[in-house]
Amino acid sequence: MEKHRQPPHIILIPFPAQGHIIPFLDFSHHLALQNLSLTIVVTPSNLPLLSPLLSKSPSIQTLSLPFPSSPHLPPGVENSKDLPPSSFGLFIHALSNLYSPLLSWIRSQTDRPVSAIVSDFFLGWTQPLAKEVGIPRFAFSSSGVLGTAVLHSLLRRLPQRLDSTDDSYPISFPEIPGSPVYFWRQLTFLYRSYMEGDPVSEAVRQSFLWNFESSGFVSNTFKALDRVYLEKPLEDLGFRKIWAVGPLTPIDGGISRGGVMSVSASEVMLWLDRFDEGSVVYISFGSQAVLPPMQATVLAAALEKSGLHFVWAMRDSTTLPEGFEERIANVKRGMIIKGWAPQVAILSHHAVGWFLTHCGWNSVLEALTAGVVMLTWPMAADQFVNARFLVEVAGVAVPAWEGSSEVPREDELANIMKEAVTLKGTEVRNRAKEMGRKVAEAVSEGGSSYQELEGFVQEFLKLEVNV
Ligand code: UDP
Repeated sequence: MEKHRQPPHIILIPFPAQGHIIPFLDFSHHLALQNLSLTIVVTPSNLPLLSPLLSKSPSIQTLSLPFPSSPHLPPGVENSKDLPPSSFGLFIHALSNLYSPLLSWIRSQTDRPVSAIVSDFFLGWTQPLAKEVGIPRFAFSSSGVLGTAVLHSLLRRLPQRLDSTDDSYPISFPEIPGSPVYFWRQLTFLYRSYMEGDPVSEAVRQSFLWNFESSGFVSNTFKALDRVYLEKPLEDLGFRKIWAVGPLTPIDGGISRGGVMSVSASEVMLWLDRFDEGSVVYISFGSQAVLPPMQATVLAAALEKSGLHFVWAMRDSTTLPEGFEERIANVKRGMIIKGWAPQVAILSHHAVGWFLTHCGWNSVLEALTAGVVMLTWPMAADQFVNARFLVEVAGVAVPAWEGSSEVPREDELANIMKEAVTLKGTEVRNRAKEMGRKVAEAVSEGGSSYQELEGFVQEFLKLEVNV
């Protein structure tokens, strides 16, 4: 019988957290432009998040599998944005129960056999699944290479502090270029909450260790930024290969980025239009973090004191001092956006030169793309690692504050921000602008990320199947 050639069928599995799913969908969109047959797997309540992708790439099929119920998670929660950090491990673990339904589904695909899996690096259990059906699996990392390396190094080595009360205990990473050292409190809670022998902790750890067995990592970064970690793809740590394909272009030009906009981009653009180039500070702590009331109060007071112009995007639940919003509106110095802000558009506006950020990796890439200087205020996860990297290695950021427990004095914070902003035109601003140019180069035709993406797609085309 004559054989029929068909494009490789790849299943794509994002991790349901805004910061993970946004770049994963951008990546899926890039793959959809190739000659590949794609199925994306989500649980039902995350289906609406696929709309921007599916409207641009209608050929992508979806597989919706029921969220595996867990007695330890509130019913109906299928996205980590609805959970406190303390439940994060349980959430990661619960998702691993998709193993069996996914295995059955893959086995049922006799007409369109699955050739490979691309799944978020928080879904390491897809590695043994891929192995069981004899196909390759690639891990997608929504973090920078350093953040990815630090997390995996922690879970592999399990370094401990000598004094269990010392949050400033230094933990070193000799196998990572530059041998960075971080304080215990700067490590991700995912690791700090690890308990030897605890079934959930052990399962989460094992899930990350499986990533080492993957056929490689696709990373949302670019060579000019992460060169030091990419030149020798962290062999000492055991990563096989890393494709640096970023910053991935937002599907819809960055309009929605996974949230329901609480203000139109044109309204914010109009507001920004009247300010001089690079004179406005944009403030956001991402999709997960809510500034504790004491910190929000001090930041508001510091902004008033500093005289800076700003746009502050905040989660609805952020507490602001009495009268702050009215005072700011009266003097037309600041705009407050409660809910989801058009971040990519704001960062690209010529008036915005500074970004007070928690250093979530997507925000970092969006700032670098726009050539905006970051004022770092890391809160959790890989953000401390990202912040140090941006300040000390890349030289495109200035430290502002860190963590959610210590509260800065308002004049101290006002000075930090004001001093940084008055560095305008000097080295850090030039480096940020230069980085913006390097981003444009990397993603344009023939650029490093463009080539890496092509190289990655070749891995699939090798898998072309005959049915
Ligand atoms: N984002 C947005 N509007 C908001 C808050 C966040 O568009 O009001 C987007 C932001 O542009 C980025 C993502 O959400 O793409 C946040 O990801 P990041 O890695 O920066 O932080 P996380 O939310 O994961 O802490």
